[in-house]
Amino acid sequence: MKKLAITGGTHGNELTGVYLVKKWKLNPGLLKRSNFETLCLHTNEQSIKEVRRYIDHDLNRSFGSADLRNETLDTHEAKLAKRLNALLGPKGSHTSNVDFIVDLHTTTANMGLSIVVSNDSALTWKAIAYLCQMEPALNVYRWQGDEEGAFVDSMAPHGFAIEVGAVPQGVLRADLFLQTETLIYHVLDFFEKYNDGQRFTFSKTLEIYDHHSLVDYPRDSEGDIMVMVHHERQDKDFDLIKSGDPLFLTFDGEVVLYEGETLCTIFINEAAYYEKGFAMCLARKITFELKE
Ligand SMILES: [Zn+2]
Repeated sequence: MKKLAITGGTHGNELTGVYLVKKWKLNPGLLKRSNFETLCLHTNEQSIKEVRRYIDHDLNRSFGSADLRNETLDTHEAKLAKRLNALLGPKGSHTSNVDFIVDLHTTTANMGLSIVVSNDSALTWKAIAYLCQMEPALNVYRWQGDEEGAFVDSMAPHGFAIEVGAVPQGVLRADLFLQTETLIYHVLDFFEKYNDGQRFTFSKTLEIYDHHSLVDYPRDSEGDIMVMVHHERQDKDFDLIKSGDPLFLTFDGEVVLYEGETLCTIFINEAAYYEKGFAMCLARKITFELKE
């Protein structure tokens, strides 16, 4: 582990990462560790300036290998993704400029302190196991919800995203800011110990949430939503849902019940996902075995 990158403002209206990166740029000593280098940067300056999720399309879905190679894509985020990939990647390379990326996000869903991970490298999961030990309330969601591999953190061989919520878009919450900041210091401490050759004694298994499927709102012929998330489901992130539980409420007050196998609901009523076409994710709670 030689170089780590902490990225914020990938979504310009998710202020925790925006202001943490700002703080660390002013106080680089906070990120300094004895045996590796840490870069911190804003990934989408223009969207931060405009307090928007993105300018043309979602930067955090812009790192698919085919898109990075496609020279005809000339949107703001497509060009930005290529520049970031030259700086932090290149993606898929064994000699990428950084070894590990932690990308900072917030969510309007009530997810507390969470990690969203698509990477299956042993080092990524070792870091996650350490973080779970340091922060027992940390939730780990293994995401394969859409365009897997197109995330910011996919530029490096190892990494994940941090999601904290609930917080509205364009808003800072001190408690979530502090929790995210503390988690980053644990990440840095882990790599300092790892590079020092320290042996870790965490358990060989982790309880995690494994992505199952996406649930969209029932929509009319124009694609507009016909329901809201039911108030009894609202904020029940990481809770079980079983057949017969209230899922949606129509504007006329009719309850739409969930039908299907018993699973956990995550990213419930995330504001940014109305346009992506889902109301929540379903995941299965599993015992994940760590690789040696
Ligand atoms: Zn985000």
